[in-house]
Amino acid sequence: MSTEIRVRFAPSPTGPLHIGGVRTALYNYLFARKMGGKMLLRIEDTDQNRFVPGAEEYIMDALRWAGIEIDEGQGVGGPHAPYRQSERREIYQREAQRLIDEGKAYYAFDTAEDLDAMRQRLEAANAPAAQYNAITRMQMRNSLTLKPEEVKARMDAGDPYVIRLKTPRKEEVRLNDMIRGWVTVHSSAIDDKVLLKSDGLPTYHLANIVDDHLMGITHVIRGEEWLPSAPLHVLLYRYLGWEATMPQFAHLPLLLKPEGNGKLSKRDADLGGFPIFPLQWTDPNTGQVARGFREDGYLPEATVNFLALLGWNPGTEQELFTMDELIASFDLAQVHKAGARFDIQKAQWFNHQYVKEQPDAVLAPTIQQQAQAAGYDCSLAKAEKIAALLKGRVNFAREIVDEATTIFNAPTQYDEAVTTAKWNADAVKAVTAFHDALVSYDGDFVADNIKHTLSDAMTQAGIKQGKIMQAMRLALTGSGAGPDLMLTMEIIGKDETIRRLEQALATLPKP
Ligand code: GLU
Repeated sequence: MSTEIRVRFAPSPTGPLHIGGVRTALYNYLFARKMGGKMLLRIEDTDQNRFVPGAEEYIMDALRWAGIEIDEGQGVGGPHAPYRQSERREIYQREAQRLIDEGKAYYAFDTAEDLDAMRQRLEAANAPAAQYNAITRMQMRNSLTLKPEEVKARMDAGDPYVIRLKTPRKEEVRLNDMIRGWVTVHSSAIDDKVLLKSDGLPTYHLANIVDDHLMGITHVIRGEEWLPSAPLHVLLYRYLGWEATMPQFAHLPLLLKPEGNGKLSKRDADLGGFPIFPLQWTDPNTGQVARGFREDGYLPEATVNFLALLGWNPGTEQELFTMDELIASFDLAQVHKAGARFDIQKAQWFNHQYVKEQPDAVLAPTIQQQAQAAGYDCSLAKAEKIAALLKGRVNFAREIVDEATTIFNAPTQYDEAVTTAKWNADAVKAVTAFHDALVSYDGDFVADNIKHTLSDAMTQAGIKQGKIMQAMRLALTGSGAGPDLMLTMEIIGKDETIRRLEQALATLPKP
């Protein structure tokens, strides 16, 4: 029987989505598309204490921005709705009850003080792990130690209780992770996890497993931080009687700090001056604003390309991928086990690659706006030419206007080193000859024609053009290097070009 591939992205709306979360969503999406399967979005909001208003919308906006399409789930709908866990509590209660009825879970009435006392007792006795488990549960207040009448009396009286998993004492729990291979854990290392809390809501573990099963998830692709929970999840599948259709697991490598050891953190991003969230986020409680890749000027295509290669390797030298190319090449077998170092310079490099491919007409309005805001006179047509001239020289589109200062302003000073090295008698002769040629030129002032006018003038003056080009650039822009000079002149315009040549002849020292 061939089953449809179904994966899910299952974020908790506890704040803005971390960029690592976007990578998790992306890998799920690439895998789903590659396999002709479905991508689901499920909101895991059962921890009411950590709920943050706006976070769910943020997650959906971020996925949309990145071009990650959801086939089924929150915001889209589908046969397994609702896709928000807080709206599915009866389902989890039903399954928790089933576990109780089958003797695989139990009620526990311990208070916070009881639990504290247990921990202190175990720590004082140097117990290897101070946890609620197959051994310690027998000293606690639960339906395994209390008489059935007392359990009933407590429940009738409305005493708060939780439902805990009755972990087996001696059993091996194994899973074959698609990225990490076999992971084996002894059940004694797994504690009697709370499945249903006293507020009637499930914990992450129960809700996650129940939903993955009911929603027909075939592959669980998620961050490495969930690997320690995976054996417990396998146990839950077994207890719930769903082991035969248990999804396959793939735990993705961590994103590491730019330098040193450990997981990439918000602090690293703040120190390094780079974003760690896809979109800007304003904390609804503190009003604090966290920067986003989008607002920092990263294009979604560049961000996606960057993220795809953080932990996955296509097995070829190819670095630039469209989403369709990523889908075609993606393979979970080529996801690394080792953590992926987060290198913001690489992200900038990708952005550079994509900014230079942006159509001039797309870049022009922003350039015009920024130029005008900076007090420059800039038509849309001029902005488009500036885009063509400079988009290959920046990492971010917003840097184009900064790069364009020599276009908007005549030089106020001239590079000293270049002046010393290149401003010689030939240079003066060349600039003068070119100036005179331009004054009598009345054709279209476009790069190609300017180029011919210049080379004709140099031939007539008997000057080798290669020898004086840096001086010509110095005269026009004040510096010895820069973008295409013919196009620069075209953008500056004929009158201004002539004026700058005159200024240079009048200002620069006579050789
Ligand atoms: N709600 C969990 C999270 O926020 C989901 C983990 C999983 O994919 O199982 O990451």
